[in-house]
Amino acid sequence: MADRLRAQAEKFQLNMGKIEAFCLFCEETKKMVKHHWTQHLINHTGELMFACDTCNMKFKNKNDHKNCAGQVMNVFDQNSSDASLMGYMCKDCNYIQFHLSSIENHLVNEHHQLIDELNYEKLMLIPDMSPVHSDVSAKFGFAEASQRFKCTVCQTQLLDALAFTAHFTDKHNDIDEYQCFCGVTVRKNDLIPGNQWVAAHLLMHRSDLHQCMICMGVYLRKKDVLEHILCTHQGNVQIKLQHVCRNPNRNIKLSVSTIQKLICNICQRQVDGSVAHIFDHFNNEHPSKTISITGIGSKKITNLARTQCDTETTYEGGKQMSVRQTNTAT
Ligand SMILES: [Zn+2]
Ligand SMILES: [Zn+2]
Ligand SMILES: [Zn+2]
Ligand SMILES: [Zn+2]
Ligand SMILES: [Zn+2]
Ligand SMILES: [Zn+2]
Ligand SMILES: [Zn+2]
Repeated sequence: MADRLRAQAEKFQLNMGKIEAFCLFCEETKKMVKHHWTQHLINHTGELMFACDTCNMKFKNKNDHKNCAGQVMNVFDQNSSDASLMGYMCKDCNYIQFHLSSIENHLVNEHHQLIDELNYEKLMLIPDMSPVHSDVSAKFGFAEASQRFKCTVCQTQLLDALAFTAHFTDKHNDIDEYQCFCGVTVRKNDLIPGNQWVAAHLLMHRSDLHQCMICMGVYLRKKDVLEHILCTHQGNVQIKLQHVCRNPNRNIKLSVSTIQKLICNICQRQVDGSVAHIFDHFNNEHPSKTISITGIGSKKITNLARTQCDTETTYEGGKQMSVRQTNTAT
């Protein structure tokens, strides 16, 4: 059970408001609303759900606390910044507690250890299952190729981006503003070579788009986002990206991938999952090598059905993702 929890590779499913998950204490799959999961998990450890931030007293109900100015908080809200349910596990005996103070007491009383972060680990029992949301479609709506590549200057129907650029170069080379069917005026951009500045915008109306979750920049390929994150966000940020797929014949599919653990492909050592640490590792250990890392992360997928109640979200931990830098950043 402890190894299974440590691997953080479980699958979860949200359907009709209920989260389906494997309870590692009961050793069976259960389906409950989030509120019932919190109650279920805290019953397993025998702890009280609420704690006061001032006097540290614990309570079963939020309103049980009187004659104290402190704030009473739900332990799960205290442990995480999103809606995930996190707990602490003793590294020595795999004992699980939800209150940090409880695991600290455990270390002192049971193992006569000092209170040290190295002696316990923080693990996720149920992830944040709130559906993936995307604003990409509001910015770049989906359009069929017949609409996307029809030249609004002369009404010629082109087949694809390549044919469009060839046509534009041939017929409208003097134009530096293009009125897209979506209403946006696209202006000539010197950063984009040749006459591809129009096609670069038109391609944003296709079904598949990828987005950097740090700066919300939109890209055509997953490879482009990963490269963008490595080149632009060199601070202490986690690699997090979103994929939007809007095939008109199917449901809209939104997914978010987050990389938590990274393994260096050259020395197989584990690197902390932030961009800054990747750079530190390569600068110190392999300064002449191209960055190549395999990440273990999670993927959350929301299938937006036409009717709200069919919307389904799944979460899968332990997903492998590779990150490499193809052109060297300066
Ligand atoms: Zn259980
Ligand atoms: Zn208090
Ligand atoms: Zn222990
Ligand atoms: Zn034209
Ligand atoms: Zn447009
Ligand atoms: Zn970005
Ligand atoms: Zn290495």
